[in-house]
Amino acid sequence: MHYKVSISNPSQHFIKLSWTIDFIHQDILHIQLPSWRPGRYELQNYAKNIRAFCVFEENGKEIQFKKITKDCWELDTKNVNKLIVSYEYYANQYDAGASFVDENQLYINPVNCMMYVVGRMDEAYEVELDIPDNYQIACQLPNSGKMLYAKNFDELADSPFIASATLQHSEFEVEQATIHFWFQGKHQINIEQLTSDTKKYIVKQIEIFGDLPCKEFHFLYPILETPFRHGVEHANSTVIAMGKSQEQTDEDFYHDLLAISSHEFFHLWNVKRIRPVDMFPYDFTKENYSTLGYVYEGVTTYYGDLMLLRSNTWDWERYCKSFESDLKRHVENPGRFNYSVAESSFDTWLDGYVQGVLGRKVSIYMEGMLAAFIADVMIIKHSKLKFSLDDVMNDLYQNYYKHGKGYTENDYRLLLEKYSGISFENYFKEIIFGKNYFEKYLMEMTGYLGCRIVYPSSKLHKNEDFSIEQNEIFNRWTRQYN
Ligand SMILES: [Zn+2]
Repeated sequence: MHYKVSISNPSQHFIKLSWTIDFIHQDILHIQLPSWRPGRYELQNYAKNIRAFCVFEENGKEIQFKKITKDCWELDTKNVNKLIVSYEYYANQYDAGASFVDENQLYINPVNCMMYVVGRMDEAYEVELDIPDNYQIACQLPNSGKMLYAKNFDELADSPFIASATLQHSEFEVEQATIHFWFQGKHQINIEQLTSDTKKYIVKQIEIFGDLPCKEFHFLYPILETPFRHGVEHANSTVIAMGKSQEQTDEDFYHDLLAISSHEFFHLWNVKRIRPVDMFPYDFTKENYSTLGYVYEGVTTYYGDLMLLRSNTWDWERYCKSFESDLKRHVENPGRFNYSVAESSFDTWLDGYVQGVLGRKVSIYMEGMLAAFIADVMIIKHSKLKFSLDDVMNDLYQNYYKHGKGYTENDYRLLLEKYSGISFENYFKEIIFGKNYFEKYLMEMTGYLGCRIVYPSSKLHKNEDFSIEQNEIFNRWTRQYN
């Protein structure tokens, strides 16, 4: 498969795509554009951004086509061996998951605008970029000159790229892997400091899973001039779009960027490799329902911050600030009386990324984070400090992902029980599928750690009178000084 991408009209934000398909041996061909992207579990209907769609033979003869769904075209390929699909795509959304073109850059998430032949998703793609000679390319895919190479459609769809003359690149090594920073846009971030802090939390994340499953990893950081915060995970890269708000200090902005970066890096294992069976493989044409958002987003949100604390990148005060802000969003959401975190996960396809109707639902991020915290402390407590949620995540990676398997809710539950040595029946009944049980568990688990939560501020405090035993428990949880 060969794609050529050119910048057809940068001021109006259109790109032009020409897709050459050969080795056609059937009378009818179906070509499909994704209707959603992994990382955001709701339909987005990218086909609405396509115009001037046409199909030709090599000699320029037009090929007849019709749409059979909103994003699937049926082509008449009788006696045709090779053809070119040509269209324009409106690339005017500058966030971490969309596509944007202007006079300064070509930023594409291929899942938005590139297609596959139904039945031929496994074929390799080469993407030729028609860009100025002084443009650099930031992307997880191997590239040479202006060409990118993907093994199959899944890899292509998972590989956003930024091509621009103003990309700021730096790289460093962590445990035999090369980590790249690609900044696009003006910023005040101290790259030396960011490099040192990133190394620290990456080392702690690798400790949980045992290894880093990629030799190169790319952080793509588009920096916006307006307040913004959005990250999307990929197998060997992440796009993190950030813009500082006026109320934020440079320091707070920096730590927010670290928090989202640690979260996205954790996804490299949790969801890009350890994946619910419901999304294995991804079906790009429709909803991929899963109740497991409290694992793929909740556990990730929990560890994103915890890794910063564990690596001493964050001190206790900064960790508490973030914990409190998550807890506050839980406490202030009346949806917690109406809908469980598992039901809310299933429904992200409906309204998971908007405020939604007041009191209808909870967040897989916030309630999922609290559910992960509770599970972690329950394991530490009942295994008498021997195990933690780290062991569950390591087990999912080693024994599910590495064996080519997705995991189910029951697999996750059995692992929680394996490492804690107790039944998680009530935890699932109350925390995952129930409503209004969080406070009871939070009180018990923070109490076990020698902490307390003060309402209504949702502040987390460490008790003043720590015994040696209490200290041991608390340190087992944070592992901050190990
Ligand atoms: Zn996430």
